[in-house]
Amino acid sequence: MSEQCGFCGAVYWKEEKNTAHKYTKCCHDGKIQLPAFPDAPELLKALLAENSPDAKNYRQRIREYNSALAFASMGAQIKPPRGTGPYCYRLHGQVYHRVSPRMQVTNIKKVTDSFIYLTPVSLSHKSHTVVRLAVHLPQQQSIVYQDGQEAQATERAALRKTTLTSWFELNKNNPSAHNISYSDIPQYYVFDKSTTNWKKRQLGGQNVIGRLPVVSILDTERYYLRMLLLRKSGDISFDDILTVNGLRCVTFQQACQEYGLL
Ligand SMILES: [Zn+2]
Repeated sequence: MSEQCGFCGAVYWKEEKNTAHKYTKCCHDGKIQLPAFPDAPELLKALLAENSPDAKNYRQRIREYNSALAFASMGAQIKPPRGTGPYCYRLHGQVYHRVSPRMQVTNIKKVTDSFIYLTPVSLSHKSHTVVRLAVHLPQQQSIVYQDGQEAQATERAALRKTTLTSWFELNKNNPSAHNISYSDIPQYYVFDKSTTNWKKRQLGGQNVIGRLPVVSILDTERYYLRMLLLRKSGDISFDDILTVNGLRCVTFQQACQEYGLL
């Protein structure tokens, strides 16, 4: 593309000249002038230019994000058939998408629909591994058992660590893990299900997301524990989570209050 329109600067291949040896597919000799694109919002500029992990991730997956949030207005001539009868949606002629900044909606009736097409499930599967993290109150981790084996199952569960109790243990033994919140821990450590221990991750952490389950506010204490777990790091026990500035709170709700979260 070595050629350029003298009016708008559009680039062309030589072969695109018309019979009058002019390039006219862009602006018809300056007759059409498009407004300049508006400046990108600061956040978008940062994502496009900076070298932070978020920005790198954004540029690497820009197509997926863009497609997931694609927004378009559809334009067409709508010609409902005459007479009575069931609803019928009939379009006449061409169907087209309107995109900014060229979009000028002169006849609003023409815009039949606006839609956002989201594919969050496929997107998360493609780009990130989601690690589910347990959120349970002391001694209330879920237990799976068969009829008649409740006692053994309870005993087994008492010995088995969950991702949460194992996180306490990790913090007890590894001061280097103290700056990492519970939800971020899967980026740096892998939960080994056989030993129920968090082990230092060797690679691939940038594509891992820790996810805490959604907890109903009716499940009050668990709800507030989750709120604390999203923010706190370095805790070595439930007691530790309940202790705010040396004060041992009675409930997780009270701890949230002491932290000014409520
Ligand atoms: Zn031009």
